[in-house]
Amino acid sequence: FWQLILLGFGLSGLLLYGLPIVRARPDVLTCTSWGAPIIWDGTFDPAVAQQEALQQNLTIGLTVFAVGRYLEKYLARFLETAEQHFMVGQRVVYYVFTELPAAVPRVALGPGRGLRVERVVRERRWQDVSMQRMRTLHEALHGRLGREAHFVFCMDVDQHFRSSFGPEALAESVAQLHAWHYHRPRWLLPYERDARSAAAVAPGEGDFYYHAAVFGGSVAALRGLTGHCARALQRDRERGLEARWHDESHLNKFFWLHKPAKVLSPEFCWSPDIGWRAEIRRPRLLWAPKEYALVRD
Ligand code: UDP
Ligand code: MN
Repeated sequence: FWQLILLGFGLSGLLLYGLPIVRARPDVLTCTSWGAPIIWDGTFDPAVAQQEALQQNLTIGLTVFAVGRYLEKYLARFLETAEQHFMVGQRVVYYVFTELPAAVPRVALGPGRGLRVERVVRERRWQDVSMQRMRTLHEALHGRLGREAHFVFCMDVDQHFRSSFGPEALAESVAQLHAWHYHRPRWLLPYERDARSAAAVAPGEGDFYYHAAVFGGSVAALRGLTGHCARALQRDRERGLEARWHDESHLNKFFWLHKPAKVLSPEFCWSPDIGWRAEIRRPRLLWAPKEYALVRD
């Protein structure tokens, strides 16, 4: 019996891992311990991903918050480069959340692509603007966004697209490896360590450190994710706690408890400040330089 099982493993190993598509990146980890693919350049065929997505006739949402000075500083470039690189050929609907709808730049959109502006209240502290996104997204996913999209990506605005970010990134739930932390040992990852916080990750726990600037998934999965994080943020606030990296700490706790179905390599959200790395072949999103003095009060 056990020999049969082992033979089965061996055969599926040959079939799965014998594919040249996986061999294409022997330099990096391309699969998590729970079997989720880690998407690196060269591990997928963009044409196949495109065809599969087209056959499903998908609508893909892209949410972005632009509150206060983040709007004038980043939003136009984010949207203009998304038009060039984000899910080109698919039906896309942007959701821009801002306190100043009239100031949203008019960006020419390609066919099958639309933009909706949703008004939000401007929180006083930048940390609260960042954290409040989980509650706002949760509500949007139960409203029009949830009705019109099948999959949604939620992104920071302080970045721009540099090359194709396509349907290869789609899955039931998607987490982004953090560019500054993907090669660090687990004990060095900046999880929330205060056991009183709902975001607490104990020593020895945690798989990767994920970046809150990019996460995504199906509407159902994201309702779960944003609901979990909004409740956890609220619980901490009631106890006078604020996790080390705000909503990102809670996102990391969520993905420790509910493993993502797909993980994006740091190529999908890269910081040019890190400098050259052999394994980073084609960055898809690039962080803007951190100009906190200009955008944060
Ligand atoms: N944000 C915003 N206005 C603010 C603070 C944050 O619009 O005053 C939004 C914006 O989309 C930003 C995201 O929240 O990209 C996260 O904040 P930030 O990028 O400053 O955090 P960091 O990436 O530095 O952790
Ligand atoms: Mn950011």
